[in-house]
Amino acid sequence: MDKLQAVFIDRDGTIGGTGHFIHPKEFTPYPFSKEALDLLKENGIKTFACTNQHRISKGEASIEDFYDEFMAFGFDDAFICSHGSSEGCECRKPSSGLLREAAEKHGLDLSKTAFIGDVGSTDMLAAHAVGAKKVLVLTGWGESSLTQFRHTWADVEPDYIAENLLKAVKLLLQQ
Ligand SMILES: [Mg+2]
Ligand SMILES: [Zn+2]
Repeated sequence: MDKLQAVFIDRDGTIGGTGHFIHPKEFTPYPFSKEALDLLKENGIKTFACTNQHRISKGEASIEDFYDEFMAFGFDDAFICSHGSSEGCECRKPSSGLLREAAEKHGLDLSKTAFIGDVGSTDMLAAHAVGAKKVLVLTGWGESSLTQFRHTWADVEPDYIAENLLKAVKLLLQQ
């Protein structure tokens, strides 16, 4: 494929944590996540965090808390949905609003991007909707996305399945 312009990366269960909400004050990235981000940067590929954080709408954290966390990790930008599922927004994954917002802001051709995430029914469906390459990681909810919850995204196949974020990045860089 053509050179990737950017890689979108989910937060919970992909960069670190458990797949559940963890406040930025308590969030710990996996030991390999920094290397994964550095590898993308070294290859001239932009890195964008892309995350649903509905607890923001309940006042449990702020958008800035998350944005600052992603900047501290070294992401080029971060796209965060703060809404609850009942609010009908266009940014909450599996909707693709965050990806389209990023494309507009950074002049991306989304068919030349990839999405790395642990949840089939949100991350993989959002990526699929815009023609981004789809990489499911097995951390977080990844294993159960392929078994217990496979029916929630049955019509979509990931382009790659990777053990974790670093392996996912290495797979993408080999293409
Ligand atoms: Mg996740
Ligand atoms: Zn939203």
